[in-house]
Amino acid sequence: MKILIVEDEDTVRELLSEGLRSEGYEVLEADNGLDGLQMAKDLQLDLILLDLMLPEMDGMSVCRILRRTSDVPIIMLTARGTEMDKIVGLETGADDYIVKPFGIGELLARIRSVLRRTTSMDTDNLVLISSDIKMDINSRRVYKGNQELRLTNKEFNLLAELVRNKGAVLSRDLLLEKVWGYSYVGNTHTVDVHIRWLRKKIELDPSNPTRIITVRGVGYRFEE
Ligand code: CA
Repeated sequence: MKILIVEDEDTVRELLSEGLRSEGYEVLEADNGLDGLQMAKDLQLDLILLDLMLPEMDGMSVCRILRRTSDVPIIMLTARGTEMDKIVGLETGADDYIVKPFGIGELLARIRSVLRRTTSMDTDNLVLISSDIKMDINSRRVYKGNQELRLTNKEFNLLAELVRNKGAVLSRDLLLEKVWGYSYVGNTHTVDVHIRWLRKKIELDPSNPTRIITVRGVGYRFEE
């Protein structure tokens, strides 16, 4: 577990760093917002402890910029009072915040709880499509290994519908209704076309599919 501490007060940063290391975490440190942001972008981190008042760039801005490209868990460190109001009142994108002064025990508990929340959320919603393809229903992403596959909205919804009902045969009419909606004017051929595109992206051999199976005269079935 790799944790980045962005905190300008040396004594606080060193104390935190020491406490986390003794718990077995790998710790990296930055003493200003710009360095912190750069490190967060460059490194594969499991969590960031981000102080609010920082030189170069404040914690709120770091958090906002980071959230455009990353969903790494962030715990904000803040002083009591107006700083705290700022965090609670604004949409920062942080996962949690802790008010100074705090004990290392309290911080460790927060870290564990944030990590539990963020990692269990991922695995709960992660569906294995095949040995190397994973689908995250929550973030609407599909990965082949570590590479993200580009699926259109319709392709994603179609795959999600099949995966949610894995093992069951879904008729073309039902898929059309579920994915395209009642109001869609078109025919079930649309479903076949999208299934073909989807197979090209997720099947090892698209002409010989093993995941999205055609059930002759009925529709499609997702096979695990
Ligand atoms: Ca500070």
